[in-house]
Amino acid sequence: MRDHVPSSTNFIKDIVLNDIKTNKYNGKVITRFPPEPNGYLHIGHAKSICLNFGLAEEFNGKCNLRFDDTNPSKEEQEYVDAIIEDVKWLGYDWGDKIYYASDYFEQLYEWAIQLIKDGKAYVCDLSPDEIRQYRGTLTEPGKESPYRNRSVEENLDLLERMKNGEFAEGSRVLRAKIDMSSGNINMRDPVMYRIRNEAHQRTGDKWCIYPMYDWAHGLSDSIEGITHSICTMEYEDHRPLYDWFIEQLNVYHPQQIEFARLNLSHTVLSKRKLLRLVNEKNVESWDDPRMPTLAGMRRRGYTPESIRDFAERIGVGKKESLVDIALLEHCVRKDLNKKAQRVMAVLRPLKVVIVNYPENKVEYLEAINNPEDSSMGIRDVPFSRVIYIEKDDFMEEPLKKFYRLTVGREVRLRYAYYIKCVEVIKDDYGNVIELHCTYDPETRGGWSPDGRQVKSTLHWVSASHSFNAEVRLYNHLFAKENPDETEDGNDFIDYINSNSIEILKNCCIEPSLKQAKAGERYQFERIGYFCVDSKDSNEGSPVFNRIVTLKDEWLKVLKSEKS
Ligand code: ATP
Ligand code: MG
Repeated sequence: MRDHVPSSTNFIKDIVLNDIKTNKYNGKVITRFPPEPNGYLHIGHAKSICLNFGLAEEFNGKCNLRFDDTNPSKEEQEYVDAIIEDVKWLGYDWGDKIYYASDYFEQLYEWAIQLIKDGKAYVCDLSPDEIRQYRGTLTEPGKESPYRNRSVEENLDLLERMKNGEFAEGSRVLRAKIDMSSGNINMRDPVMYRIRNEAHQRTGDKWCIYPMYDWAHGLSDSIEGITHSICTMEYEDHRPLYDWFIEQLNVYHPQQIEFARLNLSHTVLSKRKLLRLVNEKNVESWDDPRMPTLAGMRRRGYTPESIRDFAERIGVGKKESLVDIALLEHCVRKDLNKKAQRVMAVLRPLKVVIVNYPENKVEYLEAINNPEDSSMGIRDVPFSRVIYIEKDDFMEEPLKKFYRLTVGREVRLRYAYYIKCVEVIKDDYGNVIELHCTYDPETRGGWSPDGRQVKSTLHWVSASHSFNAEVRLYNHLFAKENPDETEDGNDFIDYINSNSIEILKNCCIEPSLKQAKAGERYQFERIGYFCVDSKDSNEGSPVFNRIVTLKDEWLKVLKSEKS
């Protein structure tokens, strides 16, 4: 159990509370999270995970992790493993058993036989194309299949032979016999089984017919005694079909409740589209730090706490909207502000020689690890005659509101001294390559005893003590706010942000980070939050991923909403 218990309410929680009050399921709450292992989980799934596992935690129930593994052609063990890791990382516990729809293949097959015997299912020899044509449209009723009135015996025989592998893929299916003129297309004799001569990651070669999602899903919920089967809105029109199967078979009836899926700005949340990004090499892999997958966010440095906080804040409703990714980043910042140690790193170094500082002297200056949390303590940072500052903290001809370093101006070096620029050194092309500064020895620690004020404080590192590292700056994967909304025959891929990654090879990092471990998160003072990359870092040479900048765009959104 986690320490955090969600406090805000939503319409699903109200339903659950009411069911507990009326003792509808003997006061029990059993939910499930049912991913299909055909891709990695994304932040949309996290919304569903937090909702389902969150309800179970809050009401002392349980939440099953169940793989909806009914389609072997798209599913892989790699995805199963990744999903397990991601749910665990988010901090949820599913007990000792993982559930698989494939564990119910036998039971589902028996139920199919029962429906045939009751005259409620039949084997149909129409081709997939014909089935589509016969189905009709939203405005026109469908047409009955010529195979609809086969005898029970013939249907039983054909299904058994389908199962035994006697027929080619696509040659036959088993269909429910419901109503070809139903206003709900899902009820027009939906397919229950199709032939797939493919091995399954769990059942191997045992089956060559596989249940359709709609046939397996509601019944899997029933088998597991799910009380509240929570799913996204697109399944609302499938509910009558799940109900129909359950009623015909006269088995336990879970209650399905639909909610609006999460859409997030500047990204896409569909496994199909994410798979394309991976396959077409627009990103490095499923866990590329720009991906909205949980694996990508973990590698980028997002914390599970911040994702749960985000899920809590967006709430649960029935109406779809596009959530501003700035809110997610706000949650990440808020969490890291308390947790991440602050350090100094110079991303685009400019050499500064402090001409009145002794050649071989080194001082160790006290730096605060996190002003938000004194228990994180202090550390010593080496200071010497040659340091680096950020290139853009100097301007030879300062713009009006530029208060940082320029010739003749004094600024503070964080935790160190006041320095004043006395000379600019340039290369043959006129580029500034070095600054000469003087320091005031009386200002040790960054404060002047005479009360003299400076307008800015710069971060820095000692040249001979710092080490070089690669730092990756990530930006939104899509430049367009809603890349799902395509226009003029464009594809969502056309909206990829050409600036989504910037790699800086020669950043100078303070020495305390030399042994930083994969997954550790830091605030680089004045720059942003960074995480040690778990794939490309080596012992003693960490590579850093930018998690978020320090600028909180969400506060701007809030302000504009208020005014
Ligand atoms: P995708 O559209 O990304 O392919 P999916 O719905 O096909 O997702 P599943 O593996 O079937 O993926 O999803 C598992 C659960 O996660 C389902 O209950 C589904 O409703 C939920 N889910 C998927 N996407 C979202 C989303 N964007 N917001 C909230 N819940 C989601
Ligand atoms: Mg799905």
